[in-house]
Amino acid sequence: MATATSTSAPQKIRALTAAAFRTPEKFTEFCRNGGQPLGGIINGERVPGSMNATFQTIDPGSQEVLATVCEMSEAEVARAVEAAQHAFEGNGRTAWRSVDVEERIELVNRLVELCDRDRDVLLACEIRDGGKVSELAQGDFSQIRECAEYFSGVARRIAMGEGPAMQVSDTVRGFSYREPWGVVAGIIPWNYPIVLTSWFMFPALLSGNTVLIKPAEDTPLSALYIGKLAEEAGFPPGVVNVLPGRGEITGHAIAEHPGVRFISFTGSPGVGQAILRTCDRHGTRMKREMGGNGAAIVLADADPEVAARMIGRYTNQHFGQTCCTIHRVFVDRKIADDFIDAQCAFMKDLKIGYQADEGTQLGAVINPTQRRRILQAQRETVARGGQALLAGGDAVVPGKKGFYLKPALYRTEPGLNVNPAEVFHTYATICPVSSADEALALANSSPYGLGASVWTRDLERGIALAKRFRDGTCQVNCHNSIAYGLPYGGQGISGGPGGGVNCEETFLDYTQVKAVYVADYPG
Ligand code: NAD
Repeated sequence: MATATSTSAPQKIRALTAAAFRTPEKFTEFCRNGGQPLGGIINGERVPGSMNATFQTIDPGSQEVLATVCEMSEAEVARAVEAAQHAFEGNGRTAWRSVDVEERIELVNRLVELCDRDRDVLLACEIRDGGKVSELAQGDFSQIRECAEYFSGVARRIAMGEGPAMQVSDTVRGFSYREPWGVVAGIIPWNYPIVLTSWFMFPALLSGNTVLIKPAEDTPLSALYIGKLAEEAGFPPGVVNVLPGRGEITGHAIAEHPGVRFISFTGSPGVGQAILRTCDRHGTRMKREMGGNGAAIVLADADPEVAARMIGRYTNQHFGQTCCTIHRVFVDRKIADDFIDAQCAFMKDLKIGYQADEGTQLGAVINPTQRRRILQAQRETVARGGQALLAGGDAVVPGKKGFYLKPALYRTEPGLNVNPAEVFHTYATICPVSSADEALALANSSPYGLGASVWTRDLERGIALAKRFRDGTCQVNCHNSIAYGLPYGGQGISGGPGGGVNCEETFLDYTQVKAVYVADYPG
């Protein structure tokens, strides 16, 4: 997801761009599935679903139907929980909870090798099903290995089982005991399916849990393909289960099932809050990674063109459909006009097109609901006093039926709350400010708190300001940054609790710690 680009040559700073992508036959065959809808994966079996309901997953750029997928009901969720519980406990076979960590790592490595073997199929999932340009899809694909390797290292380092014992009293000793939860579920959004399935699945499995993966209804293909590869890698039946379906049916049934001990949710704040309330009723632990309304502060010493192009790149990453996307820019008044001119030029130059065609930089949005929401947000920005620099609206790509939209940029002033919520497109408001403190106060005034950045040549000053963001990811001269070993999580309505993803705390989130007391036999 993260990219770092040299800031020295403005014209070289460009948006993520598509290379021409040819869909591999293996992907088409997988989608065709011998003429049958793709089933869920439960206990190593393909399950059609007792509701007899299916949904179609489409290419957002062309509206071509890629595959028909079976929807998993409450009954299949119950069946998957039972299978995952059996796999966790053993029930006659080796319990996944007791499998040696090196054996788990070996299976994970085999899965990663199979993903490498079928790289083109997984890229097709991201590009065709997810609507991504190849440059981004390739970066996402590399996260599979990076994530697996990082958490394999963590699994070797973090001791499970008994911690050091302490003498509690003359006759009582005690120790802590760390173990996996058991059945854990990952509820995944549509915008980064491979990345977020990896971020959930690897730490969960390596710490000894059995997993239910609930992909988003818009992008179910990569999770189903990874589930198939997990079987081929040799994961025992029931350890990796994949449950496609709508949020309000399949996702809701997962949240309502008391056998699910822990849920890792990535998605929008409203849905996360609703699931949290359900989890609370069952005593299910939940971790939430949610949306953002990213801010960037540009100080007067920054080159306005360099900063505008870099910020434009991050505003447009996956056409603004990235959780950390920059939607709010606060720029020193001294350079504001030059910055605005450069940002408008960058956005006007974006090549709108089909995501699998060479040169495309801004593709179709994922579905008609998103189009409606984005257009509504554009209208609302103007109604709240934003001055349109680039008015957004629909775009036409000849020969393609997808929902294409133009970039939107607005000038605003401090005190006008023109974009209070995540818009999820190539959309930003630019607000000239008189001081860094004013910019910081405005940036921090959002209820979100996922990612923010400062753009300046003065690194010391940049670091000092970055530390004062309330966001989980604070950056200087970069944005949308991730690195394994550093926490990636949100503050405010963007996330919590726990230490975010991709760090040692993430691994610990997938474990529970108990205290064990042992007293001498009385008498
Ligand atoms: P969403 O909240 O609509 O859906 C996310 C997942 O939840 C989907 O699998 C969906 O089917 C499921 N779901 C929906 N309703 C449910 C319910 N009632 N019960 C159980 N599950 C339910 O989000 P989306 O539109 O798929 O994804 C976009 C959002 O995700 C944006 O807000 C984006 O910022 C956020 N996101 C956050 C991160 C992060 O790391 N913080 C990463 C990617 C995306």
